[in-house]
Amino acid sequence: MKFLCDQMLGTLAKWLRIYGFDTFYANSTISDDKIIMISKKEDRCLITRDEELAFRCKKENIKIIHFKVVDLDEQINLVLHDLVIDKDKILSRCIICNSELSDIKKDAIKDKVPIKVFQKHEEFWFCKKCDKIYWKGSHYDKMIQKLIDL
Ligand SMILES: [Zn+2]
Repeated sequence: MKFLCDQMLGTLAKWLRIYGFDTFYANSTISDDKIIMISKKEDRCLITRDEELAFRCKKENIKIIHFKVVDLDEQINLVLHDLVIDKDKILSRCIICNSELSDIKKDAIKDKVPIKVFQKHEEFWFCKKCDKIYWKGSHYDKMIQKLIDL
């Protein structure tokens, strides 16, 4: 399942990426027309809190998840409740740009992460596009806990 989150759902988009779902985030520069076009073309399920946009998508037969809730945990729950999360896909995408991450050798990132992180972790991933390095740090534990809670 691929998603598209509208501009009100930036945090949700990040979390879906963390869980490994291909998620396009439509920021404020992207019009409703374009959102509809991308959803159709890339077969994405649109997630929105916008009534008007939801109405238009239904008319266009686009898969949508429409809700009013503001609470992030509730939002995640609503989106993921009947999806299977592949544990191997967790942390496989860049939370900033949605690109797939590549493995990177520990030696290669020595000067790029805090020394404590370097000493504590063995596995690292890398986004070619953003030049950002990821590891299973405290946010990873929090994320797994969140999944268990949900
Ligand atoms: Zn990136």
